[in-house]
Amino acid sequence: MSSSPSIVIIGTGFGGIGMASESTRAGIGDFVILERGGDVGGVWRENTYPGAERDVPSPLYSYSYSFEPNPSWSKRCAPQADCRATRRPNPSQDRLVAIARTESQE
Ligand SMILES: Cc1cc2nc3c(=O)[nH]c(=O)nc-3n(C[C@H](O)[C@H](O)[C@H](O)COP(=O)(O)OP(=O)(O)OC[C@H]3O[C@@H](n4cnc5c(N)ncnc54)[C@H](O)[C@@H]3O)c2cc1C
Repeated sequence: MSSSPSIVIIGTGFGGIGMASESTRAGIGDFVILERGGDVGGVWRENTYPGAERDVPSPLYSYSYSFEPNPSWSKRCAPQADCRATRRPNPSQDRLVAIARTESQE
């Protein structure tokens, strides 16, 4: 990556990691990912209250990326821990998570 990336992606929720994944798949690697929080994860990093889970059944809502589907949800409406873990076991997303700059805000 150049010292002045042409794309700045804000946040590491599904939107940010999805944007980074799609940019990579399109052959665009000249981006930086900034995350103001201390870790990746978006809403599923923040919402850790007991019982936090999706309100849409996981099989209906494609809550994993279409190019790296997750067939292993622990229950119909996946709980917070599952949602947060989605990004972790996928090799291409692991790489993006690793280059995200946490505690960085635009
Ligand atoms: C309990 C719960 C259940 C849900 N269930 C469903 C469901 O069943 N179906 C459904 O479709 N949706 C559901 N949603 C909504 C869905 O999770 C969100 O719409 C989606 O995750 C949003 O992703 P995002 O990447 O746009 O934003 P976020 O996940 O909010 O990520 C944004 C990230 O950007 C970072 N950020 C923000 N501003 C800056 C800045 N200026 N500089 C740097 N970083 C910044 C934040 O720290 C955060 O990490 C649910 C949400 C919650 C909380």
